[in-house]
Amino acid sequence: MKENEVNTLVEKGEMLPLMEEFYTIQGEGFHKGTAAYFIRVGGCDVGCHWCDVKESWNPKLHPPTAVNTIVENAMRSSKNKTVVITGGEPLTWNMEPLTNGLKEEGAKIHIETSGAYPLSGTWDWICLSPKKIKLPTEEIYQKADELKIIIFNKHDFIFAEEQAAKVNGNCILYLQPEWSNREKMMPLIVDYVMDNPKWKVSLQTHKYLNIP
Ligand code: SF4
Repeated sequence: MKENEVNTLVEKGEMLPLMEEFYTIQGEGFHKGTAAYFIRVGGCDVGCHWCDVKESWNPKLHPPTAVNTIVENAMRSSKNKTVVITGGEPLTWNMEPLTNGLKEEGAKIHIETSGAYPLSGTWDWICLSPKKIKLPTEEIYQKADELKIIIFNKHDFIFAEEQAAKVNGNCILYLQPEWSNREKMMPLIVDYVMDNPKWKVSLQTHKYLNIP
């Protein structure tokens, strides 16, 4: 296929820069412990300095892959049809074709997003993880099922409250230590959650378990 044809399909969301895909256990947030097929889509220009998937940022490094192929792979490998779309920032792209394809197969579809770009696609679960340097669009706050704030420093507790004030009343609130700073921030998170029990602690248990 010619390069301009591929670019057109990527712009439409019919092909996506696929960084990796794997069947594992969701390690963090509300669905922690649940088997899920992860689809990591390349492309993100949010630029968090502590990002642990910086390899995902440049979409050109990841092969444009037809969504039909991604759906087939997911359905072949996943035993419970639970799929997590992550990145990178998946909402860089039009998620309609991928989520439509997965829905036709009866999948439960979760997204992990910073919310920095307009919401596209059909979702059973939206995990919103806002980033200070590129805030979420207004529309996604009311649709988020889970708010996950990464705590890197003390100011992030203030940011967490600002973000919690914007989500809907049923949204579950998590504070999660940034991995490289976890030993310093974890005691502060524990104290904060005990003082403010509307929050829960989220840990990246997959990193403790040494699974993807
Ligand atoms: S939004 Fe996510 S993928 Fe993008 S830079 Fe931040 S942590 Fe990394």
